Amino acid sequence: DKRIKVAKPVVEMDGDEMTRIIWQFIKDKLILPHVDVQLKYFDLGLPNRDKTDDQVTIDSALATQKYSVAVKCATITPDEARVEEFKLKKMWKSPNGTIRNILGGTVFREPIICKNIPRLVPGWTMPITIGRHAHGDQYKATDFVADRAGTFKMVFTPKDGSSAKEWEVFNFPAGGVGMGMYNTDESISGFAHSCFQYAIQKKWPLYMSTKNTILKAYDGRFKDIFQEIYEKHYKTEFEKNKIWYEHRLIDDMVAQVLKSSGGFVWACKNYDGDVQSDILAQDRSFPSRTCPLFLPWDLTIRTLVPWGSWQQKSFAHGFGNDRKLTTKLASFGSLGLMTSVLVCPDGKTIEAEAAHGTVTRHYREHQKGRPTSTNPIASIFAWTRGLEHRGKLDGNQDLIRFSQTLEKVCVQTVESGAMTKDLAGCIHGLSNVKLNEHFLNTSDFLDTIKNNLDKALGQK
Ligand code: NAD
Repeated sequence: DKRIKVAKPVVEMDGDEMTRIIWQFIKDKLILPHVDVQLKYFDLGLPNRDKTDDQVTIDSALATQKYSVAVKCATITPDEARVEEFKLKKMWKSPNGTIRNILGGTVFREPIICKNIPRLVPGWTMPITIGRHAHGDQYKATDFVADRAGTFKMVFTPKDGSSAKEWEVFNFPAGGVGMGMYNTDESISGFAHSCFQYAIQKKWPLYMSTKNTILKAYDGRFKDIFQEIYEKHYKTEFEKNKIWYEHRLIDDMVAQVLKSSGGFVWACKNYDGDVQSDILAQDRSFPSRTCPLFLPWDLTIRTLVPWGSWQQKSFAHGFGNDRKLTTKLASFGSLGLMTSVLVCPDGKTIEAEAAHGTVTRHYREHQKGRPTSTNPIASIFAWTRGLEHRGKLDGNQDLIRFSQTLEKVCVQTVESGAMTKDLAGCIHGLSNVKLNEHFLNTSDFLDTIKNNLDKALGQK
């Protein structure tokens, strides 16, 4: 057995539909022939979640805490239609939400860059990774409509019995709206640790953006906590790796990002991160056709319009409705090149997955016996990112090298012109692409990756 030996187990979370099929191929043909790893298998496919009353999801998260590394296939988050389709006992919650609630941590999304796939900003030759603080702020706010003239006050009552503090927010001469929101030091600190840890893993600089010129106390606290933690725990390690941490005013950050060539981590506050992905609600990621980076909503309007079709299409499809827009964009997007890693504040525990869903539309075709052209690359990267991390934790250079080789093979295969329909569509326009001339079907593409991997590993 010449396979690479892996000392410690990896948690495998299986999933649903098209991605479940692709997942099996990746495991059997790309990973296990080369890597001798003990997989702690959890079937998170919807039928088994229903059968186990979703206990399997909880168990898989607990196993991740124990073994530190998990790779996850996309899973269905049931809605009414799914309850009917699968005759479910209950409308089970999003597995990603359940896992995140148990593990904590921050989700980092990173696009996979291929030279021949056009980017929104041609200068972005390296990825830009966005980590979203998925706690508090607008999402736990108390908001109201003032339906007449009146005074809006805030009161803070200390638990220790010391005197209360009161602020007059606004004296309404007539109707209006108001809101109170919060975050906690604990959550901001956890977010900061995850971001510093991730930046060290990538060896990329980290920027954290706020509007602290306006929200001096609120956003100022974010800035201070990040700075304190940086100086106390990470500065030395950052300097050793020749990377840095800096706070940026969100306006300046956006300007800098557009001029940059990528290769950094951007820590976003909850709302800023949300406009890129509403992961809390449904694990949806904002799709990327040509855009490895998604800008805060209000800035999107101002800054992205000049770039033409991507933007105009997004406006045409129901501007102002995040949810609808996201779905529509996905129909000509290339979610198949977006990875997603949940990083816990300890930097040790991670869960890697594709940012996209189970690709139901393709699965329906597959069920009818028709060939599909589903992009497996983000799912492959779920495996490689997980295995690479296992390799780093265990000091297993062979495993790290294998993971990087498989990633390189995926990118080079696309760059050599072999790709799935979503990517061919990015280059030529979806209505112009033809099977086998411009793109391959799912299984032919996977076979091509397998052949190229075997060649790269010198086994062919
Ligand atoms: P989706 O990401 O599965 O697909 C949306 C569209 O994007 C597809 O129709 C396709 O056009 C394109 N697309 C996505 N991935 C692609 C790929 N690898 N190759 C080619 N094209 C790709 O989202 P959806 O259709 O809204 O949801 C399907 C199911 O996935 C739902 O049940 C949802 O709950 C679930 N979901 C799971 C996760 C997760 O597990 N993290 C994330 C999102 C959605």
